[in-house]
Amino acid sequence: MSKNVTRLFAPILRLLGRPDQARDLSRSVLLLQLENTELLSRTLDKAAMSHLLVQLSMTLGRAVRPYDPVRVLSPGLFAFVLRNRTERDAMQVAHRLHRKGQAQISIAGQTLTPVISGALVHADGGCLTGPNLARDHLPGPDLPDIETLIDNARQRLQATSDSDLGRLRLYPYDTTLAGAPLVATISDAINADQVEAWFQPQVCCHSGAITGFEALARWNHPARGILAPGVFMPQMSEADHTALTQAMLTQSLMALKEWDGAGFDVPTVSVNISNTELSERGFADCLLWELDRHEIRPDRLVIEVLESVGPVTSNADVRVNLRKLSKAGCHIDLDDFGTGYASLDAIRQFGIHRIKLDRSFVTGCDIDPGQQRMILAILALAERLGIAALGEGVETREEHAFLAQMGCDEVQGYAIARPMPLSATMDFLRRHSAAAADLPSIARRG
Ligand code: C2E
Ligand code: CA
Ligand code: CA
Repeated sequence: MSKNVTRLFAPILRLLGRPDQARDLSRSVLLLQLENTELLSRTLDKAAMSHLLVQLSMTLGRAVRPYDPVRVLSPGLFAFVLRNRTERDAMQVAHRLHRKGQAQISIAGQTLTPVISGALVHADGGCLTGPNLARDHLPGPDLPDIETLIDNARQRLQATSDSDLGRLRLYPYDTTLAGAPLVATISDAINADQVEAWFQPQVCCHSGAITGFEALARWNHPARGILAPGVFMPQMSEADHTALTQAMLTQSLMALKEWDGAGFDVPTVSVNISNTELSERGFADCLLWELDRHEIRPDRLVIEVLESVGPVTSNADVRVNLRKLSKAGCHIDLDDFGTGYASLDAIRQFGIHRIKLDRSFVTGCDIDPGQQRMILAILALAERLGIAALGEGVETREEHAFLAQMGCDEVQGYAIARPMPLSATMDFLRRHSAAAADLPSIARRG
């Protein structure tokens, strides 16, 4: 789809720079990114999706002055160059564009409200004042070029956390970001001890007890700060994946030991495994060897495999690895359940212990009847198959309560806690066990 859409955008691509560009006093670049495009592509057909993108680009294009160029960097990613505006003025324009972008759109008989995240990067070339300063006589200030600013804004946008989804943020131009792509590979970063496992708790809906933590990778990049996997994972090679899993596994098993040592009852730790690794011969043996080396019982390790593992189970090595792990006692979670292929076959074949209901089903489940129907259907399926269900991305008490009442076994999400470094889990566990006694018990329905 992307090629077609890019072609579609070509006529609307406007690059109307002013002739006195070199004398800009300030430059700002605003990037607006349409979010949830994958989900939208699954909900809308190709034509409706293209229609949405075209509508959006036309709405945004009409909302700016002809000499504020608009570029479509990729489908759903728009760049606006705002010249000679104070930071405050640029922010005002950015807010207006952001609002316009998020206005309701009618597509194929459906009303959609696009979710758009924005990053505005402002660079000031110095402030010139005085009533007689004619613009034509001003020296050209030393401003970063447009491409550098776009790159700056793009990096900011990529590094935004999930909680900033749909928000507009202002950033000063940061020279340390300029031309500082991810210079090292994740393998180099691991060797330099820059990759750290952060942990997000999972909680039992019936008792409120902690049932485990999911390990999520974070890269402490020396120039760019803490990077989430969405920033670095798309560029990872197979070798990087192997190195990442190894690092995450080691840190997770060591974390279990630390929790045990501190007297906390943390039954399991979950590690995300890519389909590529699952298809590596001997992967299960290495993993079981690691467990043995750390003297950790296999049933304390949860392997999170993506729901799309279903179709790859035609691969013999994937089948062997999953069977070996399951037989040894490792628990297997089906991650992002509901977003991929319904892998009933995989559930049956590989002794999946738990499905993780994707956040897209959980968001707003307490108020949205459509979400509720889907959740009930998935929970009924899980119950029939005799496997547990965990709701992911639970952000509010209401969503938590709804899932508990519908019979969901466990939840994970910001409503309980965000992912945190190991050191912070100690404090969290202390606070959680102190508060556990006061927690209202949310009874399971029926
Ligand atoms: P995931 O496995 O589905 O992990 C859940 C993601 O949702 C995490 O994002 C987590 O921070 C975020 N999240 C948790 N609760 C909430 C919530 O209430 N609201 C919202 N909006 N988000 C929430 P994160 O850490 O950025 O990880 C993104 C993805 O990267 C993960 O999705 C996983 O697929 C992948 N990933 C992370 N670490 C690893 C790893 O070590 N190995 C592999 N292969 N993949 C990893
Ligand atoms: Ca996961
Ligand atoms: Ca997930």
